[in-house]
Amino acid sequence: MTGHIAMALNTLFLDLNSYFASVEQQVQPSLRGVPVAVAPITSDSGCCIAASYEAKAHGVRTGTRVGEARRLCPNIAIVDARPRLYVVMHNRMLRAIDTCIPVDEVHSIDEVSCVLDRVQREPARARELAVRIKGAIRAMCGECMRCSIGIAPNRPLAKLATDMQKPDGLVVLRDEDLEPGGGVLANLSAQELAGIGPKMMKRLEYAGIRTIGDLHARSASELRSLWGGVLGEKWYHWIRGADLPEAKSKKGSIGHQHVLAPEVRSVEGARAVAFRLLLKASSRLRHEKHAARKLSLAISFTSTDPSRPAAAWGSAGKDGDGFSESAALGDGCTDGATMLDALGVLWERALPLVRTRTPLLVSVTLHELVREESATLPLFGGERKDASVSKAMDTINQKFGANTLYTANVHDARQHASGGIAFRFVPNLGHADSVQARQRETASEAGSRHLAKQGARSSSGQGAKERARSDAELEALIEASLR
Ligand SMILES: [Mg+2]
Repeated sequence: MTGHIAMALNTLFLDLNSYFASVEQQVQPSLRGVPVAVAPITSDSGCCIAASYEAKAHGVRTGTRVGEARRLCPNIAIVDARPRLYVVMHNRMLRAIDTCIPVDEVHSIDEVSCVLDRVQREPARARELAVRIKGAIRAMCGECMRCSIGIAPNRPLAKLATDMQKPDGLVVLRDEDLEPGGGVLANLSAQELAGIGPKMMKRLEYAGIRTIGDLHARSASELRSLWGGVLGEKWYHWIRGADLPEAKSKKGSIGHQHVLAPEVRSVEGARAVAFRLLLKASSRLRHEKHAARKLSLAISFTSTDPSRPAAAWGSAGKDGDGFSESAALGDGCTDGATMLDALGVLWERALPLVRTRTPLLVSVTLHELVREESATLPLFGGERKDASVSKAMDTINQKFGANTLYTANVHDARQHASGGIAFRFVPNLGHADSVQARQRETASEAGSRHLAKQGARSSSGQGAKERARSDAELEALIEASLR
């Protein structure tokens, strides 16, 4: 496959700019036009998980410590993270895009991709569609919700295109832009390609490859041997615009299960085991160089019917006798923090059953595995090349991991596991989370002025009604900001 074959513009990739900070600027007009950073923990040691463009101008980035952000930008507004609000806005964004084109895949809370049909592939039409999508998002989500849209023959290139113009970008990569020798991409670092991580980049650099142009100069078989497999060959074609499917791992899943000893057949016992099993599975996943797209939690309970002891062991959830649910992990997840977040959410869903019955068997499984190199890193894709951000990310991961792994206080760990921001995981709104309870604690600790305005809600009895009400309140908050 070479440049002789015309490659259609198959994919539209959309990436909201400075997502969490933009949502806060949207719902709090006083924050518009000023430097804003969002942080789950607003004390100096906390990390910023998003920075507005005004804050970025001062060098504040995702991963910057709150203390450092204040030093870089003394008048910065540090805002408590409100994950639930970001999910409500995310769903509005999906509805807005859907008025223009169906969303094919959600990659993270602020990234989606769509497949263009025959008519939409025509470059002028594709551009027009992108402009319409931007307009729909502005109308339904607010003027602060800007996005970068990339349109290209395949997803890796469409995603790259969203990074080429920010904020409010619109980049179309056509055949003639890709040739010769990488065309407009020739001078970009190879690491701009989502899926080429720091480790792979080191290997490429060792072979004298720094840019996409350098990649172009190598043969398919050279790239194959550099990657140690077919993925290298795929990159050979992807950078030339071929729409090849992503690599799927042959390996289906990695999971562990554990039968609880009688003395730990309790809510806390089951919880501790579930998180331990996840850590075990995730480290095996990383060791085997895979990434997971799905996480599931299954819990079986001691039989309430003595005539069929432990009957539900092998069939947790299937017959309504146990709990079994899964959560999406985005496009291919390797990091523990995201998985812990996801498990925290699943755990909250399991809680009503675990509280009323006696847990016996806990199992945690990572599904839909892909090769690590082929997984994209959506939220941090554009900043992955930045070593300081990667380091800060490690710090965040270590922080979440350490708190969950080593703290003696299970309750503390739970706060982190279920209340953290999910970087690549879009929580389902249909279930309880303890985020707001935690936020309120954080807010009172930090003396936050913003959350107080939203009105604190009771953390007790987070029933469906209450959640529905709080979502309605968040919707109302967004609605009000549109006027
Ligand atoms: Mg983004």
